[in-house]
Amino acid sequence: MRISPPNPFLVPPTWNCMYHSIYTLSLLLGLNTLLATGNASAQLIARAAESNSGCKPYYYGPVNTQLSSFPTIWEPATILHGDTNAESKWDSIKANVPKIPPKGTPNGDFSGLNYSDADDDCWWTYSKCVDPRLEGLPSDVADIPEPHTLAYSFDDGPNCSHNAFYDYLVAQGQKATMFYVGSNVMDWPLEAQRAVTDGHEICVHTWSHRYMTGLSSRDVFAELYYTIKLVTDITPTCWRPPFGDVDDRVRAIANGLGLRTVLWKYDSNDWRVDDGDVSRSAVDANYERLLNESANGSFDTVGAILLAHELNNFTMSEAVKYYERLRSTFKNLVPIQVALNNTHPYVEDRPSLGDFHDYTTGRSASVPSDPGTGSDSGESTSPYSPSSVLGPGSEPQSASGSQSTVVSGFLPPSVTDQPAGQMPSSSRARRIGGVVVGGIGWWAMAIGILNAVV
Ligand SMILES: [Zn+2]
Repeated sequence: MRISPPNPFLVPPTWNCMYHSIYTLSLLLGLNTLLATGNASAQLIARAAESNSGCKPYYYGPVNTQLSSFPTIWEPATILHGDTNAESKWDSIKANVPKIPPKGTPNGDFSGLNYSDADDDCWWTYSKCVDPRLEGLPSDVADIPEPHTLAYSFDDGPNCSHNAFYDYLVAQGQKATMFYVGSNVMDWPLEAQRAVTDGHEICVHTWSHRYMTGLSSRDVFAELYYTIKLVTDITPTCWRPPFGDVDDRVRAIANGLGLRTVLWKYDSNDWRVDDGDVSRSAVDANYERLLNESANGSFDTVGAILLAHELNNFTMSEAVKYYERLRSTFKNLVPIQVALNNTHPYVEDRPSLGDFHDYTTGRSASVPSDPGTGSDSGESTSPYSPSSVLGPGSEPQSASGSQSTVVSGFLPPSVTDQPAGQMPSSSRARRIGGVVVGGIGWWAMAIGILNAVV
Protein backbone atom coordinates (compact mmCIF):
# COMPACT_ATOMS: atom_id res chain seq x y z
CA MET A 1 0.00 0.00 0.00
CA ARG A 2 1.50 3.33 -1.05
CA ILE A 3 0.24 6.37 0.82
CA SER A 4 0.92 9.99 -0.05
CA PRO A 5 0.98 12.65 2.65
CA PRO A 6 -1.99 15.00 2.78
CA ASN A 7 -1.84 18.15 0.71
CA PRO A 8 -3.84 21.05 2.13
CA PHE A 9 -5.17 23.39 -0.52
CA LEU A 10 -6.90 26.70 -0.65
CA VAL A 11 -10.48 27.23 -1.57
CA PRO A 12 -10.59 30.18 -3.97
CA PRO A 13 -13.15 32.94 -3.64
CA THR A 14 -15.99 32.18 -5.99
CA TRP A 15 -19.12 33.76 -7.30
CA ASN A 16 -18.92 36.64 -4.92
CA CYS A 17 -20.45 39.98 -5.59
CA MET A 18 -23.27 38.43 -7.64
CA TYR A 19 -25.96 39.60 -5.34
CA HIS A 20 -25.18 43.22 -4.70
CA SER A 21 -28.61 44.27 -5.84
CA ILE A 22 -30.19 41.85 -3.40
CA TYR A 23 -27.87 42.99 -0.67
CA THR A 24 -28.68 46.61 -1.37
CA LEU A 25 -32.34 45.73 -1.22
CA SER A 26 -31.73 43.97 2.05
CA LEU A 27 -30.14 47.02 3.51
CA LEU A 28 -32.94 49.22 2.29
CA LEU A 29 -35.56 46.99 3.79
CA GLY A 30 -33.55 46.25 6.85
CA LEU A 31 -32.41 42.75 7.67
CA ASN A 32 -34.75 42.53 10.60
CA THR A 33 -37.65 43.13 8.27
CA LEU A 34 -36.39 40.37 6.02
CA LEU A 35 -36.03 38.07 8.94
CA ALA A 36 -39.64 38.61 9.83
CA THR A 37 -40.91 37.59 6.43
CA GLY A 38 -40.78 33.88 7.06
CA ASN A 39 -39.67 30.94 5.00
CA ALA A 40 -38.05 32.75 2.10
CA SER A 41 -35.77 34.69 4.39
CA ALA A 42 -32.91 32.24 4.66
CA GLN A 43 -32.03 32.53 0.99
CA LEU A 44 -32.02 36.30 1.08
CA ILE A 45 -30.11 36.44 4.31
CA ALA A 46 -27.51 34.01 3.07
CA ARG A 47 -27.03 36.11 -0.03
CA ALA A 48 -26.86 39.29 1.96
CA ALA A 49 -24.22 37.81 4.21
CA GLU A 50 -22.25 36.58 1.21
CA SER A 51 -22.39 39.92 -0.54
CA ASN A 52 -21.54 41.88 2.51
CA SER A 53 -18.72 39.75 3.72
CA GLY A 54 -17.19 38.76 0.41
CA CYS A 55 -17.01 35.26 1.80
CA LYS A 56 -15.45 36.49 4.99
CA PRO A 57 -16.39 34.96 8.30
CA TYR A 58 -19.21 36.85 9.93
CA TYR A 59 -20.46 37.18 13.43
CA TYR A 60 -23.71 35.36 13.99
CA GLY A 61 -25.07 35.54 17.48
CA PRO A 62 -26.88 32.19 17.79
CA VAL A 63 -23.67 30.40 16.88
CA ASN A 64 -21.11 32.61 18.48
CA THR A 65 -22.75 32.61 21.86
CA GLN A 66 -22.67 28.80 21.82
CA LEU A 67 -19.11 28.23 20.68
CA SER A 68 -18.03 27.01 24.11
CA SER A 69 -20.50 24.13 23.79
CA PHE A 70 -18.71 22.79 20.74
CA PRO A 71 -15.20 21.61 19.91
CA THR A 72 -12.87 24.21 18.45
CA ILE A 73 -13.79 24.74 14.82
CA TRP A 74 -11.54 22.76 12.47
CA GLU A 75 -9.71 21.10 15.34
CA PRO A 76 -10.20 17.35 15.70
CA ALA A 77 -13.18 16.98 18.00
CA THR A 78 -12.94 15.69 21.54
CA ILE A 79 -15.61 15.27 24.18
CA LEU A 80 -15.75 18.62 25.94
CA HIS A 81 -14.58 18.73 29.53
CA GLY A 82 -17.60 18.46 31.79
CA ASP A 83 -20.03 17.46 29.04
CA THR A 84 -21.85 14.87 31.08
CA ASN A 85 -24.44 14.18 28.40
CA ALA A 86 -21.78 13.39 25.84
CA GLU A 87 -19.96 11.21 28.37
CA SER A 88 -23.17 9.40 29.19
CA LYS A 89 -23.92 8.77 25.54
CA TRP A 90 -20.39 7.53 24.94
CA ASP A 91 -20.71 5.21 27.93
CA SER A 92 -23.82 3.72 26.39
CA ILE A 93 -22.05 3.02 23.11
CA LYS A 94 -18.49 2.05 23.90
CA ALA A 95 -19.23 -1.51 25.06
CA ASN A 96 -20.38 -2.31 21.51
CA VAL A 97 -17.27 -0.90 19.85
CA PRO A 98 -14.89 -3.65 18.69
CA LYS A 99 -11.31 -3.64 19.95
CA ILE A 100 -9.83 -2.57 16.64
CA PRO A 101 -6.84 -0.24 17.01
CA PRO A 102 -6.71 3.06 15.11
CA LYS A 103 -5.07 2.93 11.70
CA GLY A 104 -2.42 5.43 10.65
CA THR A 105 -2.93 9.07 11.56
CA PRO A 106 -5.90 11.46 11.46
CA ASN A 107 -4.28 13.05 8.40
CA GLY A 108 -4.26 9.82 6.46
CA ASP A 109 -0.69 8.66 6.80
CA PHE A 110 -0.93 4.88 6.80
CA SER A 111 2.73 4.26 6.14
CA GLY A 112 4.11 1.36 8.12
CA LEU A 113 0.69 -0.01 8.91
CA ASN A 114 0.46 -3.78 9.01
CA TYR A 115 -2.98 -4.79 7.89
CA SER A 116 -4.15 -8.28 7.13
CA ASP A 117 -5.12 -9.21 3.59
CA ALA A 118 -8.16 -10.89 5.11
CA ASP A 119 -9.54 -7.41 5.71
CA ASP A 120 -11.00 -8.44 9.06
CA ASP A 121 -12.16 -4.90 9.81
CA CYS A 122 -14.01 -4.33 6.52
CA TRP A 123 -11.83 -1.28 5.91
CA TRP A 124 -13.20 0.56 2.90
CA THR A 125 -9.94 2.39 2.32
CA TYR A 126 -8.20 -0.93 1.85
CA SER A 127 -10.74 -3.04 -0.01
CA LYS A 128 -13.85 -0.92 -0.67
CA CYS A 129 -15.61 -3.26 1.77
CA VAL A 130 -19.20 -2.19 2.52
CA ASP A 131 -20.54 -5.29 4.29
CA PRO A 132 -19.35 -5.20 7.89
CA ARG A 133 -17.86 -8.30 9.46
CA LEU A 134 -19.18 -7.24 12.84
CA GLU A 135 -22.57 -8.72 13.57
CA GLY A 136 -25.41 -6.29 14.05
CA LEU A 137 -24.10 -3.56 11.78
CA PRO A 138 -26.06 -2.67 8.66
CA SER A 139 -24.32 -2.65 5.31
CA ASP A 140 -23.09 0.70 4.09
CA VAL A 141 -25.23 2.45 1.53
CA ALA A 142 -23.13 2.26 -1.63
CA ASP A 143 -25.78 1.44 -4.21
CA ILE A 144 -29.42 2.28 -4.44
CA PRO A 145 -32.13 -0.15 -5.43
CA GLU A 146 -34.04 1.95 -7.92
CA PRO A 147 -32.94 1.33 -11.53
CA HIS A 148 -32.23 4.15 -13.97
CA THR A 149 -31.68 6.36 -10.96
CA LEU A 150 -28.79 8.54 -9.84
CA ALA A 151 -28.58 9.62 -6.22
CA TYR A 152 -27.25 13.16 -6.28
CA SER A 153 -24.94 14.20 -3.43
CA PHE A 154 -22.43 16.90 -2.57
CA ASP A 155 -19.82 16.80 0.18
CA ASP A 156 -17.87 19.33 2.23
CA GLY A 157 -20.41 22.15 2.46
CA PRO A 158 -21.83 24.44 3.34
CA ASN A 159 -19.73 26.68 1.16
CA CYS A 160 -19.64 30.40 1.83
CA SER A 161 -20.19 31.10 -1.86
CA HIS A 162 -22.63 28.39 -2.80
CA ASN A 163 -25.65 30.63 -3.37
CA ALA A 164 -25.33 30.72 -7.16
CA PHE A 165 -25.12 26.94 -7.23
CA TYR A 166 -28.07 26.56 -4.88
CA ASP A 167 -30.01 29.08 -6.97
CA TYR A 168 -29.37 26.87 -9.97
CA LEU A 169 -30.71 23.81 -8.17
CA VAL A 170 -33.80 25.74 -7.09
CA ALA A 171 -34.38 26.88 -10.66
CA GLN A 172 -34.20 23.25 -11.79
CA GLY A 173 -36.51 22.06 -9.03
CA GLN A 174 -33.71 19.74 -7.99
CA LYS A 175 -33.02 18.48 -4.47
CA ALA A 176 -29.78 16.83 -3.46
CA THR A 177 -28.14 15.31 -0.41
CA MET A 178 -25.63 17.62 1.25
CA PHE A 179 -22.99 16.08 3.50
CA TYR A 180 -22.05 18.94 5.80
CA VAL A 181 -18.85 19.36 7.78
CA GLY A 182 -19.73 20.58 11.28
CA SER A 183 -16.98 23.19 11.29
CA ASN A 184 -18.26 24.60 8.00
CA VAL A 185 -21.77 24.76 9.41
CA MET A 186 -20.52 26.78 12.36
CA ASP A 187 -18.57 29.05 10.03
CA TRP A 188 -21.37 29.49 7.49
CA PRO A 189 -24.60 28.99 9.42
CA LEU A 190 -26.83 31.02 7.14
CA GLU A 191 -25.65 29.05 4.16
CA ALA A 192 -26.47 25.83 6.01
CA GLN A 193 -29.91 27.10 6.88
CA ARG A 194 -30.52 27.89 3.24
CA ALA A 195 -30.00 24.23 2.33
CA VAL A 196 -32.74 23.23 4.75
CA THR A 197 -35.00 25.96 3.44
CA ASP A 198 -34.39 24.84 -0.13
CA GLY A 199 -35.43 21.33 0.85
CA HIS A 200 -32.14 19.51 0.40
CA GLU A 201 -31.36 16.49 2.52
CA ILE A 202 -28.65 17.00 5.13
CA CYS A 203 -26.25 14.33 6.33
CA VAL A 204 -23.21 14.48 8.61
CA HIS A 205 -19.66 14.66 7.27
CA THR A 206 -17.90 14.83 10.67
CA TRP A 207 -16.74 17.81 12.67
CA SER A 208 -13.27 18.42 11.27
CA HIS A 209 -12.98 16.19 8.18
CA ARG A 210 -10.24 13.86 9.34
CA TYR A 211 -9.54 10.22 8.53
CA MET A 212 -11.82 8.55 11.02
CA THR A 213 -9.91 5.26 11.31
CA GLY A 214 -6.89 7.27 12.48
CA LEU A 215 -8.73 8.58 15.54
CA SER A 216 -9.32 7.01 18.93
CA SER A 217 -12.82 5.61 19.42
CA ARG A 218 -13.66 8.36 21.86
CA ASP A 219 -12.63 11.01 19.34
CA VAL A 220 -14.55 9.33 16.52
CA PHE A 221 -17.58 9.61 18.77
CA ALA A 222 -16.91 13.32 19.31
CA GLU A 223 -16.50 13.93 15.56
CA LEU A 224 -20.00 12.55 15.04
CA TYR A 225 -21.69 13.64 18.27
CA TYR A 226 -21.33 17.40 18.02
CA THR A 227 -23.84 17.90 15.31
CA ILE A 228 -25.31 20.60 13.18
CA LYS A 229 -28.56 20.73 15.15
CA LEU A 230 -27.84 24.14 16.62
CA VAL A 231 -27.80 25.76 13.21
CA THR A 232 -30.13 23.62 11.13
CA ASP A 233 -32.63 22.45 13.76
CA ILE A 234 -32.37 18.92 12.44
CA THR A 235 -30.47 15.83 13.53
CA PRO A 236 -29.49 13.71 10.52
CA THR A 237 -29.51 9.92 10.55
CA CYS A 238 -26.88 9.48 7.86
CA TRP A 239 -23.20 10.24 7.55
CA ARG A 240 -20.40 9.87 5.04
CA PRO A 241 -16.84 9.25 6.21
CA PRO A 242 -14.33 11.74 4.78
CA PHE A 243 -12.27 9.97 2.10
CA GLY A 244 -14.53 6.94 2.67
CA ASP A 245 -12.23 6.01 5.52
CA VAL A 246 -14.37 3.70 7.63
CA ASP A 247 -13.97 0.30 9.25
CA ASP A 248 -16.11 -1.74 11.63
CA ARG A 249 -14.88 0.16 14.69
CA VAL A 250 -15.95 3.50 13.21
CA ARG A 251 -19.17 2.00 11.86
CA ALA A 252 -20.08 0.69 15.30
CA ILE A 253 -19.69 4.16 16.82
CA ALA A 254 -21.74 5.79 14.07
CA ASN A 255 -24.38 3.10 14.44
CA GLY A 256 -24.53 3.77 18.18
CA LEU A 257 -25.33 7.37 17.35
CA GLY A 258 -28.06 6.39 14.93
CA LEU A 259 -26.07 7.29 11.83
CA ARG A 260 -26.16 5.06 8.73
CA THR A 261 -22.91 5.01 6.80
CA VAL A 262 -23.27 6.23 3.22
CA LEU A 263 -20.54 5.89 0.60
CA TRP A 264 -20.76 6.18 -3.19
CA LYS A 265 -20.27 4.28 -6.39
CA TYR A 266 -19.08 6.96 -8.78
CA ASP A 267 -16.49 9.50 -7.69
CA SER A 268 -16.21 12.54 -9.93
CA ASN A 269 -12.81 13.19 -8.30
CA ASP A 270 -13.60 16.88 -8.63
CA TRP A 271 -12.06 17.58 -5.22
CA ARG A 272 -8.60 16.54 -6.37
CA VAL A 273 -8.22 19.14 -9.10
CA ASP A 274 -7.04 22.04 -7.02
CA ASP A 275 -4.14 20.09 -5.60
CA GLY A 276 -2.95 19.23 -9.09
CA ASP A 277 -3.43 15.52 -8.58
CA VAL A 278 -6.22 15.28 -11.12
CA SER A 279 -6.76 17.38 -14.23
CA ARG A 280 -9.99 19.12 -15.10
CA SER A 281 -10.28 16.98 -18.20
CA ALA A 282 -10.02 13.89 -16.02
CA VAL A 283 -13.04 15.07 -14.03
CA ASP A 284 -14.89 15.64 -17.29
CA ALA A 285 -13.95 12.11 -18.28
CA ASN A 286 -15.38 10.77 -15.03
CA TYR A 287 -18.70 12.47 -15.67
CA GLU A 288 -18.66 11.24 -19.28
CA ARG A 289 -17.98 7.70 -18.13
CA LEU A 290 -20.99 7.83 -15.84
CA LEU A 291 -23.14 9.14 -18.68
CA ASN A 292 -21.87 6.47 -21.05
CA GLU A 293 -22.51 3.69 -18.57
CA SER A 294 -26.02 4.95 -18.09
CA ALA A 295 -26.61 5.05 -21.83
CA ASN A 296 -25.17 1.53 -22.14
CA GLY A 297 -27.60 0.02 -19.67
CA SER A 298 -25.40 -0.29 -16.59
CA PHE A 299 -28.22 1.02 -14.44
CA ASP A 300 -31.05 -1.02 -15.87
CA THR A 301 -31.34 -3.02 -12.67
CA VAL A 302 -29.73 -0.88 -9.98
CA GLY A 303 -29.07 2.81 -9.48
CA ALA A 304 -25.87 4.62 -8.51
CA ILE A 305 -24.61 7.23 -6.08
CA LEU A 306 -22.53 10.08 -7.47
CA LEU A 307 -19.95 11.76 -5.27
CA ALA A 308 -19.39 15.43 -6.06
CA HIS A 309 -18.47 18.44 -3.94
CA GLU A 310 -19.59 21.97 -3.29
CA LEU A 311 -16.00 22.69 -2.39
CA ASN A 312 -15.10 25.46 -4.83
CA ASN A 313 -16.02 27.19 -8.06
CA PHE A 314 -14.72 24.38 -10.24
CA THR A 315 -16.56 21.56 -8.48
CA MET A 316 -19.86 23.46 -8.46
CA SER A 317 -19.38 24.58 -12.07
CA GLU A 318 -18.82 20.98 -13.12
CA ALA A 319 -22.06 20.00 -11.41
CA VAL A 320 -23.92 22.69 -13.33
CA LYS A 321 -22.14 21.82 -16.57
CA TYR A 322 -23.28 18.20 -16.45
CA TYR A 323 -26.63 18.63 -14.75
CA GLU A 324 -28.91 18.63 -17.79
CA ARG A 325 -27.21 15.64 -19.36
CA LEU A 326 -27.39 13.66 -16.14
CA ARG A 327 -31.04 14.50 -15.78
CA SER A 328 -31.84 13.48 -19.33
CA THR A 329 -29.71 10.32 -19.30
CA PHE A 330 -30.98 9.02 -15.98
CA LYS A 331 -34.67 8.58 -15.59
CA ASN A 332 -34.46 9.87 -12.04
CA LEU A 333 -32.04 12.21 -10.28
CA VAL A 334 -32.91 12.17 -6.59
CA PRO A 335 -31.53 12.71 -3.07
CA ILE A 336 -30.17 9.59 -1.38
CA GLN A 337 -32.82 9.13 1.31
CA VAL A 338 -35.49 9.47 -1.35
CA ALA A 339 -33.79 6.78 -3.40
CA LEU A 340 -33.82 4.55 -0.31
CA ASN A 341 -37.50 5.24 0.36
CA ASN A 342 -36.61 6.66 3.75
CA THR A 343 -39.39 9.06 4.66
CA HIS A 344 -38.00 9.80 8.13
CA PRO A 345 -34.51 11.10 7.42
CA TYR A 346 -34.10 13.03 10.70
CA VAL A 347 -34.45 12.26 14.37
CA GLU A 348 -37.01 15.02 14.55
CA ASP A 349 -40.41 14.59 12.98
CA ARG A 350 -39.64 16.89 10.09
CA PRO A 351 -41.33 16.84 6.72
CA SER A 352 -39.44 14.64 4.31
CA LEU A 353 -39.23 14.74 0.56
CA GLY A 354 -41.43 11.68 0.46
CA ASP A 355 -40.59 8.24 -0.80
CA PHE A 356 -39.18 7.51 -4.21
CA HIS A 357 -42.56 7.26 -5.87
CA ASP A 358 -43.85 10.48 -4.34
CA TYR A 359 -40.72 12.42 -5.24
CA THR A 360 -40.48 11.22 -8.81
CA THR A 361 -44.16 11.75 -9.47
CA GLY A 362 -44.13 15.22 -7.96
CA ARG A 363 -46.21 14.28 -4.96
CA SER A 364 -43.50 14.92 -2.37
CA ALA A 365 -44.21 16.24 1.04
CA SER A 366 -43.65 19.93 1.53
CA VAL A 367 -40.22 21.40 1.77
CA PRO A 368 -39.11 21.94 5.35
CA SER A 369 -39.68 25.44 6.54
CA ASP A 370 -36.99 27.95 7.27
CA PRO A 371 -34.96 26.65 10.20
CA GLY A 372 -35.13 30.13 11.60
CA THR A 373 -38.85 29.93 12.03
CA GLY A 374 -39.35 26.43 13.34
CA SER A 375 -42.93 26.74 12.25
CA ASP A 376 -43.51 23.65 10.16
CA SER A 377 -43.86 21.04 12.84
CA GLY A 378 -46.11 22.97 15.07
CA GLU A 379 -43.25 23.94 17.32
CA SER A 380 -43.47 27.44 18.57
CA THR A 381 -40.00 27.56 20.01
CA SER A 382 -37.01 29.08 18.31
CA PRO A 383 -34.52 26.59 16.93
CA TYR A 384 -32.01 28.35 19.10
CA SER A 385 -33.77 27.61 22.33
CA PRO A 386 -31.70 25.53 24.75
CA SER A 387 -33.62 22.39 23.86
CA SER A 388 -32.33 22.64 20.33
CA VAL A 389 -28.70 22.36 21.35
CA LEU A 390 -28.80 18.65 21.11
CA GLY A 391 -26.58 15.89 19.98
CA PRO A 392 -27.72 12.75 18.18
CA GLY A 393 -30.45 10.88 19.93
CA SER A 394 -31.74 14.12 21.38
CA GLU A 395 -29.33 14.06 24.25
CA PRO A 396 -29.19 17.54 25.74
CA GLN A 397 -25.76 19.08 25.89
CA SER A 398 -25.24 20.66 29.22
CA ALA A 399 -21.56 21.41 28.90
CA SER A 400 -20.43 24.93 29.44
CA GLY A 401 -23.80 26.02 30.59
CA SER A 402 -25.50 25.67 27.25
CA GLN A 403 -28.64 24.35 28.88
CA SER A 404 -29.04 27.44 30.92
CA THR A 405 -28.26 29.84 28.11
CA VAL A 406 -31.34 31.13 26.40
CA VAL A 407 -30.74 32.27 22.87
CA SER A 408 -33.85 34.02 21.80
CA GLY A 409 -35.11 34.39 18.30
CA PHE A 410 -33.56 34.39 14.89
CA LEU A 411 -30.94 37.03 15.22
CA PRO A 412 -29.68 39.05 12.31
CA PRO A 413 -26.30 38.15 10.91
CA SER A 414 -23.19 39.98 11.76
CA VAL A 415 -23.52 42.49 9.00
CA THR A 416 -25.34 44.72 11.41
CA ASP A 417 -24.13 43.24 14.68
CA GLN A 418 -20.47 43.16 15.07
CA PRO A 419 -17.49 43.02 12.77
CA ALA A 420 -16.04 39.63 12.11
CA GLY A 421 -12.80 40.78 13.64
CA GLN A 422 -14.40 40.68 17.04
CA MET A 423 -15.11 37.00 16.88
CA PRO A 424 -13.28 34.77 19.28
CA SER A 425 -9.85 34.06 17.93
CA SER A 426 -10.27 30.35 18.41
CA SER A 427 -12.79 30.23 15.62
CA ARG A 428 -10.92 32.50 13.28
CA ALA A 429 -7.71 30.55 13.03
CA ARG A 430 -7.87 26.99 11.95
CA ARG A 431 -5.23 24.34 12.12
CA ILE A 432 -5.70 21.95 9.29
CA GLY A 433 -3.26 19.19 8.62
CA GLY A 434 -0.58 21.10 10.42
CA VAL A 435 -1.21 24.36 8.55
CA VAL A 436 -2.79 27.33 10.26
CA VAL A 437 -4.95 29.54 8.12
CA GLY A 438 -7.35 32.13 9.26
CA GLY A 439 -9.14 35.39 9.12
CA ILE A 440 -8.60 36.31 5.48
CA GLY A 441 -12.10 36.00 4.15
CA TRP A 442 -11.83 32.66 2.53
CA TRP A 443 -9.56 30.04 3.69
CA ALA A 444 -8.22 26.59 3.50
CA MET A 445 -9.93 23.35 3.99
CA ALA A 446 -7.52 20.51 4.13
CA ILE A 447 -8.07 17.25 2.47
CA GLY A 448 -5.39 14.63 2.58
CA ILE A 449 -4.70 12.66 -0.48
CA LEU A 450 -4.88 8.97 -0.36
CA ASN A 451 -3.25 6.96 -3.11
CA ALA A 452 -3.65 3.41 -2.06
CA VAL A 453 -2.37 0.72 -4.35
CA VAL A 454 -3.79 -2.45 -2.99
ZN1 LIG B 1 -15.26 15.42 2.34
